Amino acid sequence: MSKWWEKEPLRFECQADCFRCCCKPGYVFFDKEDIKNAAEFLDSSPADFKSTYLKKENIDWVLEVEDDQPCTFLTREGCSIHPAKPKQCSAYPFWKENLEDKNTWRLVGGFCPGIDRGPMVAIEAIKNFLKKFRY
Ligand code: SF4
Ligand code: SF4
Repeated sequence: MSKWWEKEPLRFECQADCFRCCCKPGYVFFDKEDIKNAAEFLDSSPADFKSTYLKKENIDWVLEVEDDQPCTFLTREGCSIHPAKPKQCSAYPFWKENLEDKNTWRLVGGFCPGIDRGPMVAIEAIKNFLKKFRY
């Protein structure tokens, strides 16, 4: 059965100087590939990257964003590891939990000003985002 977002176009364009999603408390998940990419970008090793920035949460490596401060990698200019940011970040806002139904997507739109702006996002692109980030 097709999903609701396959039947109507979704628009999205990340807004300059927004960074709201980088200030949201919670976990930023880094899988093995994300750790390798970010470590290489910072001229570090996966082991050092993990010990410096991440903690183990069950089977996952995560960076915790606390209530009162943004993600460690956020600077005035934006994400300091942008070319190597983890899949969770590059897939936002196209996460399973956000696309569950139309009302949820609308609610997420109240948080993310990029939703309902800009070009229509191809269905295949949305499917790829969902494959990229499993939560
Ligand atoms: S909240 Fe939305 S518009 Fe703002 S930085 Fe994140 S993805 Fe871009
Ligand atoms: S890693 Fe970069 S894109 Fe992801 S939350 Fe942190 S600052 Fe934002």
